[in-house]
Amino acid sequence: MLTIKKLLIPLEKIWRISAGGLAPVHMYVVQVENKSFIVDAMTRNRARAIAAVITSRPEIPRPSEIVLTHCHGDHTGSAAALSQLWSIPCLCSEAEQPFVSGEKPLWTAAAGRWTAQFLRMSQTLGLVQGPPVTDIRHFERVDYESGWVVVPIPGHTPGHIALWREHSRTLIAGDGLFNFFDRLSRDPFPGVSIDPRAEWSAIERLSALEPDHLLLGHGRAIIGNATARIREYLERLGKTG
Ligand SMILES: [Zn+2]
Repeated sequence: MLTIKKLLIPLEKIWRISAGGLAPVHMYVVQVENKSFIVDAMTRNRARAIAAVITSRPEIPRPSEIVLTHCHGDHTGSAAALSQLWSIPCLCSEAEQPFVSGEKPLWTAAAGRWTAQFLRMSQTLGLVQGPPVTDIRHFERVDYESGWVVVPIPGHTPGHIALWREHSRTLIAGDGLFNFFDRLSRDPFPGVSIDPRAEWSAIERLSALEPDHLLLGHGRAIIGNATARIREYLERLGKTG
């Protein structure tokens, strides 16, 4: 069962689609003038349900692209099916492309031996790396006119990206951070992120953008004061100053 909700972000029209259950996860539909794009595509077998909740809101223009923040199966699971259903392209970063397309296994990119072993074992669960999205293109910008830009934040995966729009100071950061139980964290399942050191610098980079609003793949959206929350988190962990 999926739910859809328009987020109350000034200057933006963004809807969040959420799935509960064992793996609570969010994806987003972002409207830019009379067009829209999708960010992430949940776990597998949800393409029809995703299409149904989006079309249940006639005010949303039909999405023209699926942007994938990273290759994990709870973000790419229904991407290929949704792309076929609506004949729209899937986009990700160049560094993430071989892992989204299934060309390379994710464990080969792990920074440490233990992470590599853990990922190799977990691969069979289908959540670490989603089903292959063969029709995938890499990109630098969502749309030149829209003001949404791609921010590379490798660490959780090799080519993880966030989307940033300065106009509204809104950041859509996938699994760059987690906000389970309204508490920011990184990699709540230790061993899933391929490079923890890179992941920390990615969080510092996100903080340096000074976002007001932070939308994530898991956990609550932070609407207003997001920078203070991220800095608080980094300070708590002794990562700044
Ligand atoms: Zn992830």
